[in-house]
Amino acid sequence: MPELPEVETVRRTLTPVVKNQVIAECEVFYPRLLPRNTVEVFCAQIINRKITDIKRRGKYLLFELDSPLRMIVHLRMTGQLVYQPEQNLPLAKHTSARFIFKNKGELRFVDQRKFGTIYLLPEAQYHQIHGLYTLGPEPLGEDFTVDTLADKVQSVRAVKTILLDQSKIAGLGNIYADEALFRAKIHPLKPGSRLTEAEIAALHHSIRAVLREAIAEHGTTIKDYRTGSGDTGNFQNKLLVYRRTGKPCPNCSTPVERIKVGGRSTHFCPHCQRWDQDCTD
Ligand SMILES: [Zn+2]
Repeated sequence: MPELPEVETVRRTLTPVVKNQVIAECEVFYPRLLPRNTVEVFCAQIINRKITDIKRRGKYLLFELDSPLRMIVHLRMTGQLVYQPEQNLPLAKHTSARFIFKNKGELRFVDQRKFGTIYLLPEAQYHQIHGLYTLGPEPLGEDFTVDTLADKVQSVRAVKTILLDQSKIAGLGNIYADEALFRAKIHPLKPGSRLTEAEIAALHHSIRAVLREAIAEHGTTIKDYRTGSGDTGNFQNKLLVYRRTGKPCPNCSTPVERIKVGGRSTHFCPHCQRWDQDCTD
């Protein structure tokens, strides 16, 4: 699933080619893409609107229009939002929607698993999208400090589970939670409330570092993720533990293990990320 670095890469690659473009035609081939609109109402409201900017919150893309409405896109599992400079090329399999621009090119939403969603709402009604309205702070934002993280982890839940909770921190998913915990040498099952001050500081640093590095590499392509230009990311080549079960830990050569935490596959090094459950720290 695309996480913060992938969604941010889509934003950065789409902005230069989509900003200031006027939507001339709208086609939705899969109506469930629009949980709150009929295709007719959605297209009527978006046709002739200019995209003035693209913002991001967590894993949501927020297309600002020259009207109070915002087009809010969530890629979910397999969604791809790709700009094509040439119009009316044959549709790829699993194309859910396309937006043809007045001037040049078109924007296509391709989604194999079909969990992706698009909303059209004014900012004043963002509360209608529970996941967007309840998002925690942006981990790369200035207000995400060590103290913020210390506050967010005060829970008996496993730290890995807390990191995946979008209402605690926006944008982290399975890949970057595993990578951040490995870098900070924290066992994924350790309860958040039992992290030491030093562990919280290390985790704060590792979350921001891994997200920044992944953005610089245009995200991680395991299978479906593509940038707004249709390219794969590169960070899959830099992963230290995620999906590396049985391969040697880059620090100590102990084989990476996989366990389930809160139902999610979790990869860690049992030597570098030790946690003695009977110990009180
Ligand atoms: Zn190790």
